[in-house]
Amino acid sequence: MLDVRDLQVHFPVKMSAIQAVGRALVRQIRRGRTDETPVRPVVHAVDGVSFALGPGEILGLVGESGCGKTTTARAVLRLLAPTSGRILFEGTDLASLSEEAMRGIRPRMQIVFQDPHAALNPAMTIGQAIQDPLLIHREVAAAEAKEATFRVMEEVGLSPPEDLFDKYPADLSGGQKQRAVIARAIILRPSLIVADEPVAMLDMSVRARILELLLDLKARHGLTYLFITHDLATAKFVCDRIAIMYLGRIVETGPAAEIFREPKHPYTKALIAAVPVPEPGRPRAQALPRGEVPDAIRPPRGCRFHPRCPVALPTCGWEGRDFVDYLEDRRLNPETARVDETRIGRPTAWTASGLVVHRAARPDLAKLEEAVRSVLALAPAPLREAVTEIDVSAGEVAVRFREPEPLEPRPVAGRSVECLLY
Ligand code: SF4
Repeated sequence: MLDVRDLQVHFPVKMSAIQAVGRALVRQIRRGRTDETPVRPVVHAVDGVSFALGPGEILGLVGESGCGKTTTARAVLRLLAPTSGRILFEGTDLASLSEEAMRGIRPRMQIVFQDPHAALNPAMTIGQAIQDPLLIHREVAAAEAKEATFRVMEEVGLSPPEDLFDKYPADLSGGQKQRAVIARAIILRPSLIVADEPVAMLDMSVRARILELLLDLKARHGLTYLFITHDLATAKFVCDRIAIMYLGRIVETGPAAEIFREPKHPYTKALIAAVPVPEPGRPRAQALPRGEVPDAIRPPRGCRFHPRCPVALPTCGWEGRDFVDYLEDRRLNPETARVDETRIGRPTAWTASGLVVHRAARPDLAKLEEAVRSVLALAPAPLREAVTEIDVSAGEVAVRFREPEPLEPRPVAGRSVECLLY
C-alpha cells in the first residue's frame, strides 16, 4: 500500500544575521571552532528513509523527540514537501504530484493529530467538525451527511450522537475530543491513517481505551496505520512492525515482537533498556546513552549514533569535532582540565574541519604534538584507533581521522539493521 524510498526532507534554517552570529559563537564556546558551518544551514530532518507498509498493517515509527518521525509522516501525507525520494501510495508516487492531484488522493489518507484540543476548531460543533470532510470531498445532502456523522460517532464511542452533535470542543473531555478527531479521520473511509502520537496528550486512564478503539476500527474497516510514537510500550502494544529512527535515519526495522525480544541495533537496545518495567524484582530501567541527540544541521559523519554508542568501532565515523568533544569532557575533571589548559589548550583553541582537527602552535610544536599523543592515549579506544595521522607542519598540529566505513541497512535475524556490527 505504501512504499517510501530514500525520502529526504531538509529545511533551510530561517534565522536573522544576529541569530547566525550568536549561534556560531555558542558553538565556538561549546565545541571548539569549526570551519565547516554551511553559509545557509539546512536541517537534515529526514535523510534517506525507506520503509514499506502492507494493507491492514500497523507500522510504528519510533524514536526520541526530534528524530524525524513526525516529519516523515507529514511528508508521506504531503503536508510537507519532500526534498527528494519516492512516496508510492497505492501505486501513485505522491512525491511528484501537484497539489491539485493530491486533492483527489487525500480522502484515502487521513491523519489523527497528537493534540485533540488544537486539532478541533473551538468555534465549530463536534458534529460540524466530523461531517466537514464529507461536505468538502463528497457531494452529499446535509441530512445524509448528518446521518453518516451519527453513525461514525456511534462507532467511535461518542454516544448518544444526538446529544453530542451540537456540543463544542470545550464541552468534551480530552478522550472524547480525540474520539471526535478519529471520527473525522475515518468518515471518508480512508485506507491509510497516520496516527501521530494519538495518545501522548491524553490522561493515562483513557490512553488504553483510545488505542483499543484504533485497533477495533482497523479490524472492522481493514485500515492501515502508520503509527508515530516516542513510547516503546505503546508501540509494543499496537504495532505489527516497528522502525526505530535516530536523527533522520531508520536504524532498525522488523516485527515488533522480534525487536522487543532481541533488539540488534545498539540504539534500539538502549531505548528498550530505558523502558520502565512495573514488575517487582525486574531490573530498573537504564538511562539512555550519555549526551544529547546531535544537531541535525551538522549530523555526525558515518553512523549518526557514534558519539553516543557504547560499542562503537574505529570505523564508525570519528571526526575532528569528536576530538574537541573529548577535550571538552576532560574539562569536567578538575585535574585533567588543569593539565590540558597548559599543555594542549582549551577546546576552543582547536578547529575541527571534517576528518581533521588542528591547532596552530609556535614555537612549541613538538610539545603540543607530545601532549596530543598523551591525551589520545587515554581516549576511548574507538576514537583513539580512528586516528590515522598526527601531522606536524606549517606551524600547526593536525589530527586526522580515517574515512568512515559505508553504512547501509543489512538483513539481520529477520529484520533490517543499519550498523557496522553486522
Ligand atoms: S555503526 Fe553500530 S557500532 Fe558503530 S556507532 Fe553506529 S550503532 Fe554503534
